[in-house]
Amino acid sequence: MHLDLTDRVVLVTGAARGIGAVLADRFVTEGCRVVALDLAFPDAPTTGVDQVRCDVTDPASVRAAVDGVVARHGTVDVLVNNAGINVEGTVAELGWDAWRRCMDVNVGGTFLVAQAVAPVMQAAGRGRILNAASFAAIVPSVGSAAYAASKSAVVAFTRVLASELGPWGITVNAYAPGMVPTAMNGFAEMPSAAQDRLLDTLSIRRWESADDVADLLVFLASDAAGYVTGTLVDVSGGKLATQIPAKAYER
Ligand code: NAD
Repeated sequence: MHLDLTDRVVLVTGAARGIGAVLADRFVTEGCRVVALDLAFPDAPTTGVDQVRCDVTDPASVRAAVDGVVARHGTVDVLVNNAGINVEGTVAELGWDAWRRCMDVNVGGTFLVAQAVAPVMQAAGRGRILNAASFAAIVPSVGSAAYAASKSAVVAFTRVLASELGPWGITVNAYAPGMVPTAMNGFAEMPSAAQDRLLDTLSIRRWESADDVADLLVFLASDAAGYVTGTLVDVSGGKLATQIPAKAYER
């Protein structure tokens, strides 16, 4: 299979830590020119990957970052809209500000960066846009109204953009990680009984790694995935593939 990504220009948002940092490193390993965007980066770059401070909810910040990437690298071949936040709380508890912040980052940020990058890809006549959804967009949890709604919106946005950019040969897909222990969720720090309860929802009974996500994204970014667009790809280890996946481990 042809997965050669050598010299592709890859933009990864939310890449200062967690899944995004691993994705940025993976695309470097694949021979790409990677630019990592994050609110948390200092103004000056500190590592090998190009790091650009950018708030994906701020149109001017996004515009400046994308213009800078194009000035430096000439184009953007792959955009990974990874930046996201988790806002927890029941509908009764959620404040309006928390709801709006969740929508601003997860949906608004995805929209703003895709909107800024799309004309660059249209001019090049090719491109890949990969949007971080979540398993929460497939089966949401109690207390995840804002987060699940935002990720479902990302899926709908992905499908519309896929159709709008199809004429330029640009594909747009969303992906749904399940449970990657990161600072966002603290899965790895939970008491072991709570961890077991979560792991029991999986067909592949182990925590997901960011590399599991990276493996999928390398494929989706490649020429081999040219006919895959407008989809939500579940990369959750078969979470709730059946009602009680743990039964298979009791045999
Ligand atoms: P994380 O909290 O570890 O990292 C998120 C990164 O996004 C941080 O570096 C943060 O600074 C950055 N960010 C937040 N707001 C930003 C903004 N306004 N502008 C620019 N950068 C911003 O999260 P993670 O667990 O690595 O998750 C990454 C993505 O994957 C998110 O979209 C998340 O919803 C999604 N996801 C994660 C999991 C999981 O199990 N970890 C599961 C499903 C989906």
